[in-house]
Amino acid sequence: MAVSLEREPAVNEGSFDQFDAIIIGAGVSGLCQLYHLRRLGLKVRLFEEGGGVGGTWYWNRYPGCRFDSESYTYGYSFSEELLREWDWKEHFSAQPDTERYLNFVADKFDLRRDIQLNTRVASAVFDDRQNCWEVRMEQGGSARARFLITAVGILSAPYTPPIAGLESFKGVRFHTGRWPQEPPKLEGKRVAVIGTGASAVQLIPEIAKVVGHLTVFQRRPNYCAPLRNGKIDPETMKKIKASYPEIFRRTNETTAAFIHDFDPRSIYDVTPAERLARFEELWEQRGFAKWLSLFHDINTDPKANEIYAEFVRNKIRERVKDPAVAEKLTPKDYPFGAKRIPLESGYYEAYNRDNVTLVDLRESPIERITPTGIKTRAAEYEFDVIIFATGFDAVTGALSKIDIRGKGGMSFKDRWAHGPRTYLGMQTAGFPNMFIISAAAFANLPRCIEMLVEWVADCIRYMGEKGLTRIEATPQAEDAWVRHSAELAGHSFLTRGDAGGDSWFLGANIPGKDRVFLLYANSFPAYRKECREAADKGYEGFLLQ
Ligand code: NAP
Repeated sequence: MAVSLEREPAVNEGSFDQFDAIIIGAGVSGLCQLYHLRRLGLKVRLFEEGGGVGGTWYWNRYPGCRFDSESYTYGYSFSEELLREWDWKEHFSAQPDTERYLNFVADKFDLRRDIQLNTRVASAVFDDRQNCWEVRMEQGGSARARFLITAVGILSAPYTPPIAGLESFKGVRFHTGRWPQEPPKLEGKRVAVIGTGASAVQLIPEIAKVVGHLTVFQRRPNYCAPLRNGKIDPETMKKIKASYPEIFRRTNETTAAFIHDFDPRSIYDVTPAERLARFEELWEQRGFAKWLSLFHDINTDPKANEIYAEFVRNKIRERVKDPAVAEKLTPKDYPFGAKRIPLESGYYEAYNRDNVTLVDLRESPIERITPTGIKTRAAEYEFDVIIFATGFDAVTGALSKIDIRGKGGMSFKDRWAHGPRTYLGMQTAGFPNMFIISAAAFANLPRCIEMLVEWVADCIRYMGEKGLTRIEATPQAEDAWVRHSAELAGHSFLTRGDAGGDSWFLGANIPGKDRVFLLYANSFPAYRKECREAADKGYEGFLLQ
């Protein structure tokens, strides 16, 4: 279906490439947005910094990198043909296969002709008179479009802590989120990994098998749980394909859009023996069952949480041979689920290897990086390679790297200086015709992304049909949404700022960043309903012109 957009002549139109919509980012959300806008008949251009499509799955190519949501809940649901044609090889797809999938999607829907790779957007400025955005690229060139859609991902700005002496290191160093395209040779090398979050937990068991010696620098241990991945044989894939309608119905209904959902029972509704049996049963299941299928009050009640946390601690202790190392790997000072649970395959066993050493940074912090390695308060270590698995400046980081200017030259970075300020997670007042596909709910991301990009496409179609040229969240709607989000965030250990998780969800991993829950802390069905209702009421909370 082709939508006709009112096109006012742009000032100096001749010197710009002119589009109906510009998308920034060719990851899971950008590709999907491009597909949906093109179906409206719009002229769209997508700019991508990387040399290939895939976003997260292009940049994070470290050994061991893979999904932790079931593959068949992660792929796009918008095309039955695509669902029929693509076979997942594993329950939790590895990065190379996922990157192949996203390339397959780009080819299948002929998306590449509207994608410009190796192009970093430096600035985006709203032209108030013409109701359009003017985007400039770092390497030169510019483009204008009525609509700007930022699809830059929530975990795409890698964070490397500014440790003294960093630049002096004479060996090789890189970040998991910017893993070299040419796989680095780690065989036989002396390798350091700083950080023990979800990325490190996937990386460590893989590289431990090939490096000469691996030293892991841990600040705080995580509650990690077994992923229980497995191959998908053709017969199982056939069954999965037949049950896609049921799978997507379920992910539309569960709290976080996974196939798992919280147990409506309280931990106190069952006897201690039944409770333990349930814990063991969940522990044997694949994926996030051992977090997202728990008795619901484990996420909110300190005593209930402590019962399960101790169960998990004992699981860790059982797997690590050296009791002193096991204790260092066992979290004790924050609740289970106050950080996102890393899912692992052989992580704890890696510490039973002779070539792996754990350094506890709480006992002896890093003092500096030296030309030959890392110096802690207690010792000096020599390395050929240092890997930073130190996470991301989440949600706000990637957007604030682009100089976005709204009405009257208003700086987006300034508007978000103390955390995301949006209405429905999608628009910030003062930035008309700009949609943000990232500040979304805590959910299995592709499920949330598909809902958002379809919402944006519907909105643009509506505007085209009504001859409207401008949509802008009202300051009142934005204020109410920010207040509502903050209230919701006060409830669970993951979303509360005072639970001790200190995770990227709260900006707590970046020194100086304001501590607010960066996503929308409502359930996915509730979020979807709020977005839908606003649209059904003629885009309530937005000013349309
Ligand atoms: P992360 O969870 O933020 O972990 C970063 C690690 O670096 C933490 O262990 C942190 O220690 C440590 N660290 C940070 N600054 C440090 C410093 N100055 N000195 C020493 N250690 C420092 O980052 P991530 O592991 O990249 O994961 C981020 C998110 O990406 C995950 O939560 C998940 O949402 C996503 N992810 C998903 C998958 C998947 O399976 N699909 C895989 C990887 C990542 P502290 O804990 O003490 O802060």
